[in-house]
Amino acid sequence: MSALAQELAALGLQTAAIDPYSRDESGCGEYPPHAAVQARDAIDVQKVLAFSRARKIPVVPRGAGSGKSGGALAERGGIVLSLEKLDRIVEVSRADMVCVVEPGVILEKLQAAVEAEGLFYPPDPNSQAICSIGGNLAHNAGGPRALKYGVTRDYVLALQAVLPTGELIRTGHRSWKGVAGYDLTQLLVGSEGTLAVIVQATLKVIPLPRSVATLLAFFPDEDAAALAVQKIFGAGLLPRACELLDGPAMRAVSPRAPFKFPEDVGGALIVEHDGHGDSVMEELARSGELCTEAGAREVVAAQDEAQRRRIWETRRMISVALTSIRPHKISEDVAVPRGRLVELIGRVRAIGARYGLPTACYGHAGDGNLHVNLLFGSAEERAKGQAAVEEVLQAAIDLGGTITGEHGVGLAKRAFLAREQSRDVIELQRRLKRAFDPDNLLNPGKILPPA
Ligand SMILES: Cc1cc2nc3c(=O)[nH]c(=O)nc-3n(C[C@H](O)[C@H](O)[C@H](O)COP(=O)(O)OP(=O)(O)OC[C@H]3O[C@@H](n4cnc5c(N)ncnc54)[C@H](O)[C@@H]3O)c2cc1C
Repeated sequence: MSALAQELAALGLQTAAIDPYSRDESGCGEYPPHAAVQARDAIDVQKVLAFSRARKIPVVPRGAGSGKSGGALAERGGIVLSLEKLDRIVEVSRADMVCVVEPGVILEKLQAAVEAEGLFYPPDPNSQAICSIGGNLAHNAGGPRALKYGVTRDYVLALQAVLPTGELIRTGHRSWKGVAGYDLTQLLVGSEGTLAVIVQATLKVIPLPRSVATLLAFFPDEDAAALAVQKIFGAGLLPRACELLDGPAMRAVSPRAPFKFPEDVGGALIVEHDGHGDSVMEELARSGELCTEAGAREVVAAQDEAQRRRIWETRRMISVALTSIRPHKISEDVAVPRGRLVELIGRVRAIGARYGLPTACYGHAGDGNLHVNLLFGSAEERAKGQAAVEEVLQAAIDLGGTITGEHGVGLAKRAFLAREQSRDVIELQRRLKRAFDPDNLLNPGKILPPA
């Protein structure tokens, strides 16, 4: 046990081995902290932050470590403060249509608990089986259903959080409405653990839709699939999810998929509608027709829950399946206005061709948020991939979008923030950071590029 861990244990804190807290899902590398603490309650969090301030030691909050931007990595050493043991669902209230949760609750567990009450918490990052509510709040996570229902931010009514100065604050309200004062709740959401450590959240829940219907449409290429996205929205439909798979993603996932794809497919769309009545099937049928008009070779509607699950299983396999093309990938989550999707896909293809790298695009096409992957094997290809990524991010900005639609800036993209935001806006965020964290000890160095 390190000397720092011994000091923390002497304060009555529960320390842990540092190795599991040295990495996350970002591929940014290994950053072992000097000590790891597993908080058991808000008082533990206050103790750690008071200690950090007194001793000028950085603290990095951590949920489940599934983040893709390196936000939970201890780049400057110090203490990783894990919230995984704060994992109680405190309350699910049908009367108020809210739930109260601790940050360590795994998202899937919360979804199951509210659904058992006939209620619905829509945010659904594809990591739902492994990510925690605290990480979702800190990254303002989205997912396929964000298209119709919005992202995590849209469901946060109130927070309890510990400031870097050690004070426990309560922001927001339990009521669905409320406009008093600056909206500190929404400022903390998406702040990537740099302003405060969230220890409890009051989240809005809505009635669980009674029916859900899903289709999978196969296209000759991804441009036709992207065109179908425009047609569906142009017809005034709002599916709850509309996910695109491009040719390389389709070909990679095909051997593992739980059903056979038609020959020569070069793109696909998953479209899902939900609601409370017969209109759901009508809307699905209309989306299917629009896919056919856009050139779909085959449209398959799931006949039961098992088939629906298999379609989504296929979608979730893509990330791993891409390793059959190249063993490594740089995976981006850019977003563009929906009308520029076809252009984005074309620009990614051109960038890949120029650098001689395979690419694959898939993801939340309905809201213009695509996972763009640059695939590589050798060190030489990796260097090319890093150069190519800059062009992909720039393309997203040029098309009116953003360098990150949902994964956050963290460590991975802080060097690119100044491409998207003006110097004044970055400086204003630095001033906000100083107001919360005058000694720059809470998750230092994340989001904002060095001054
Ligand atoms: C296979 C896979 C699929 C994914 N799909 C999606 C997707 O569809 N949509 C999406 O948005 N993301 C997705 N992600 C990314 C990731 O799961 C999300 O960003 C998730 O919200 C991170 O949660 P976590 O608990 O793992 O957080 P961590 O990785 O532990 O931390 C993430 C950030 O949150 C901060 N943090 C954690 N807890 C707290 C707290 N209590 N208070 C303050 N700050 C805190 C950390 O400091 C860090 O900056 C995916 C990841 C994987 C591996």
